[in-house]
Amino acid sequence: MGSTILDNSIKFVQGVGEVRAKLLEKELGIVTMRDMLYHFPFRYIDRSRTYKVREVTEDNASAYIQLRVRVLGKAFAGEGRKQRFSVYCADDTGRVELIWFRGVKWIEKIIEPNREYIVFGRPSFFRGELSMVHPEIEVVEKALSRKVESGLQGIYSTTEKLSTTLGGKGLYNIVCSLWGVVRNHIHDYMPEYIVRKYGLMSLEEALYNIHFPQSPEKLRQAQYRLKFDELFGIQLNIQARRSERTGRRDGFFFPKVGDKFNTFYHTKLPFDLTEGQKQAVRDIRQDTVSGVQMNRLLQGDVGSGKTVVALLSMLLAGDNGFQSCMMVPTEILARQHYASMTKMCEGVLVRIAILTGTTKAKERREILAALEAGEIDILVGTHALIEDRVQFSNLGLVIIDEQHRFGVEQRARLWTKNAQPPHILVMTATPIPRTLAMTLYGDLDVSIIKGLPPGRQPIKTYHYFESARLSLQNFMRKQIERGRQIYVVYPLIAESEKMDYLSLQEGFDAIVRDFPLPKYKVAVCHGKMKPELKQQAMEEFKNGQADILVATSVIEVGVDVPNATVIVIESAERFGLAQLHQLRGRVGRGSEQSYCVLMSDEKLSKESSKRLEAMCQTTDGFELAELDLKLRGAGDINGTMQSGEAFDLKIANPTYDNQILQLAQELAIQILGVDASLSHPDHLVLRELRDRYAPEHKTDFSEIS
Ligand code: ADP
Ligand code: MG
Repeated sequence: MGSTILDNSIKFVQGVGEVRAKLLEKELGIVTMRDMLYHFPFRYIDRSRTYKVREVTEDNASAYIQLRVRVLGKAFAGEGRKQRFSVYCADDTGRVELIWFRGVKWIEKIIEPNREYIVFGRPSFFRGELSMVHPEIEVVEKALSRKVESGLQGIYSTTEKLSTTLGGKGLYNIVCSLWGVVRNHIHDYMPEYIVRKYGLMSLEEALYNIHFPQSPEKLRQAQYRLKFDELFGIQLNIQARRSERTGRRDGFFFPKVGDKFNTFYHTKLPFDLTEGQKQAVRDIRQDTVSGVQMNRLLQGDVGSGKTVVALLSMLLAGDNGFQSCMMVPTEILARQHYASMTKMCEGVLVRIAILTGTTKAKERREILAALEAGEIDILVGTHALIEDRVQFSNLGLVIIDEQHRFGVEQRARLWTKNAQPPHILVMTATPIPRTLAMTLYGDLDVSIIKGLPPGRQPIKTYHYFESARLSLQNFMRKQIERGRQIYVVYPLIAESEKMDYLSLQEGFDAIVRDFPLPKYKVAVCHGKMKPELKQQAMEEFKNGQADILVATSVIEVGVDVPNATVIVIESAERFGLAQLHQLRGRVGRGSEQSYCVLMSDEKLSKESSKRLEAMCQTTDGFELAELDLKLRGAGDINGTMQSGEAFDLKIANPTYDNQILQLAQELAIQILGVDASLSHPDHLVLRELRDRYAPEHKTDFSEIS
């Protein structure tokens, strides 16, 4: 869409204006008319269906529904900012309470007793009584006069802040006005021959039907077209990058397996590598003598032993006269890797250093100087490694651990540290099926470490309610008596950080009470602590001085204490599956039987109990990832276990839309194969699509702790 009208600010659309435009930008990142046009409904509801109160049950209560009810009365409760406003309504089958916590004055004014309304919202039950919080409400006459052609109406995602001024319906109205403005300015960027070949709907029709479906079939076609565009746009980028990289042939050469690698491998490595680890090392060996820069994703479930593969690769780099660095997402993890690598490499002629945000100025200067002089072989660290002042003398290999925690931009900055690009190895426990990874990342080759090192027993997982607290404590005592150690984890979620912090403090106090000194030693570790204290707590736990570590999800990623055999996760219902799986991976790292105990409230949403149930049933990361997707539904790709973090997918889901993905990939390869720069007259229009999906530059540096 080369037309300029779509680049205009959304504020010019009727019903928006300056104030709302600012809000839209802040809350949803919508700035231009195009942004709004591409803010698709996340689901559709059938407005032609009106429920009776009696028909609403706890089973269908998760969906949005529409009721036709008469107002019986209204009442305020609470005071000041805690005020709530209730409207009591009924139809001929039952009663429902409508509740507002915000915008109370305004709602109060428009509600008239004894009048009939169409209300629309998500029902909930409290003690068997039906209620709806912040429903949309409209007098019957008006609601019925507005006809939605197919009965299908889009529901737009909004945010809590936005919903007071612009709820889902407000967004719908804006899109209606917007459509009038832009409809004649949409021209297709897909070459005619592709549209024909793949039987695609035109762009204009697709955009219209995605917002205002004329029929379920038209909606399906619209979704197909927009998914196709999205995945094809991404593939145009990925495949271009890939052919550029593999065409360059300027990869560093690591032909030699020398003293560093051999001494370590034959005299230091305390175990045999698993078949998966060996294969990964072989893959890396092959890449580093191919003449092409390596770009490899090493995937292996939590505890599968990725770190030692990383170390072996870095020793290989060292044997060939190259430096390497390993970037990890948290300070704790950096220190852990540094400590274990230094220990494992005692007696190996390799110089290892660590650089993090808390490295003291003097030490930092020394490290930076040594690094530039080529006196350091392996540098481990956090985001601090990206800073411009970190200069290597000959960086040959970059490893990124838990890569999903880093943005694309951050990673890219590491590989521009050399004129000649270093080899790249990114490691993740996020289970992405191989085919998916290759189509989604495209430019990455994939090695997978299947299975765990031998001798591990599957972790036993249980889900308990508060009523089992005493027996849990007994169990914990027994484990400690046997010399084992225990993690107790509390959620920490940004919005209610204060509250969570309190619950951690309370939990800590309770545990100290139940597990008193001198018999027991309890350590605590959370994001608000000074790094030194955090470090101290981790060390106490690591070297066995502390029996219990009370922590926030700061320990989620990568922490390795093989003697810890129990992890108790408090308020487990508040964690996502991916996080629970990562947390559970903190135990089961030695040969002892390990346990994961999920503590939760007795009142659980259906989804939460399914999540917890799944955790009890399987320890397989792939299985959990699939289930995670199912539970979240197709629309919600960001933040899932399989998210394609590098790309901002609005509608496509690379798992469900695998077939479209494959078509898009083939087409991209084919087109770029004959016209890499998209210069052919038929392809010029495609540049817009390609550029729109160029990977965004994320700059989120926040260290999650
Ligand atoms: P992750 O893949 O989650 O990063 P780690 O690299 O932290 O896993 O390894 C988990 C634990 O397994 C570590 O204690 C490590 O020393 C151990 N380990 C790794 N490989 C093997 C192996 N082949 N045999 C036995 N233990 C291993
Ligand atoms: Mg790890």
